Amino acid sequence: MRTDDLRSYYPEELAVLIEALGEKKFRAKQLFEWMHAKQASSYDAMTNLPGAFRTMLAEKFPLVTLKIKTVQESKADGTRKYLFELPDGQMIESVFMVYHHGNTVCISSQAGCRMGCRFCASAIGGFVRNLEPSEMLEQVYRIMEDTGERISNIVIMGTGEPLDNYENVMRFLRLVSHPAGLSLSRRNLTLSTCGIVPRIYDLAEEDIPVTLAVSLHAPNDEKRKALMPVANKYTIREITDACRSYFKKTGRRITFEYALVSGENDSAADAAELALHLRGLPCHVNLIPVNPVRERTFKRPDKKGILNFQNQLEKCGINVTIRREMGSDIDGACGQLRKRYTFGD
Ligand code: SAH
Repeated sequence: MRTDDLRSYYPEELAVLIEALGEKKFRAKQLFEWMHAKQASSYDAMTNLPGAFRTMLAEKFPLVTLKIKTVQESKADGTRKYLFELPDGQMIESVFMVYHHGNTVCISSQAGCRMGCRFCASAIGGFVRNLEPSEMLEQVYRIMEDTGERISNIVIMGTGEPLDNYENVMRFLRLVSHPAGLSLSRRNLTLSTCGIVPRIYDLAEEDIPVTLAVSLHAPNDEKRKALMPVANKYTIREITDACRSYFKKTGRRITFEYALVSGENDSAADAAELALHLRGLPCHVNLIPVNPVRERTFKRPDKKGILNFQNQLEKCGINVTIRREMGSDIDGACGQLRKRYTFGD
């Protein structure tokens, strides 16, 4: 975290800084509220702070605020995909979705990604940099401002591997659920990871009981290696062990994401093998018929194939849902987000 980025500070840190700057301590509280409860986009908006104080802040601590470059709205379901410009000119994408249980924002945690999953557009073009906590918060704040809607759920499922940007993501989770800020319930926060095992154990110790979603996508290590380079580092057994431990510590049921790819991981035998790994683990499997990515040739199974896979898993006693596809007509569905530049992709 950068020391001049006040939107990434905890209230206590802000209080120490504001006092050191010779201002009264209660100004820190006001400032925090402006940045997080009211989602101010500039110091100018903070009308109950003294003018000279605001000018000094603007000079020394430029307020991290994202710019909306483009918005695309799905004709099918009203999903909105945002292209944001970060303060250094990098571009990232976020998605706003309306569900019956509330509005959800899917945020990116990195510009680019270094995990290299073969079916995912975010991996194309590689890794650029980690996002700051303020840059993750700002995706939510600007979407709230643009839509005029409340947000009840956040999923960290956009571009990037959140557990590869661990400290910043933990700070984001604490700030977004802070009672003096947006104050979202931690039960409504979901972190999706490709399975960085040591970090799953760390997360369990953080006392932020978010829903953990794990991208499994394969019934055994061989098939997983063919789809996800991270499988060369951690086995499915190591991942499910870490998940059992996460459940023990947090009481939160694990979600396993499984992108169905025709001919690769969608047979009845694959379902049975997957079920063996998950036996006795409080979890549910979320099937995602693989979404098209221009540079790749992976195909989703047909409707019957998807239902067969679901039935097979259910027969083995596993809870299964099929992910409702949102925003695929605007390339806003899982695995379709990428960094885009003004001159094209
Ligand atoms: N790095 C994190 C979060 C980002 S991806 C993770 O791996 O979980 C969010 C989800 O979309 C993951 O489950 C990912 O595997 C999945 N996904 C990626 N590409 C996809 C595609 N083309 N079709 C369907 N799901 C995809």
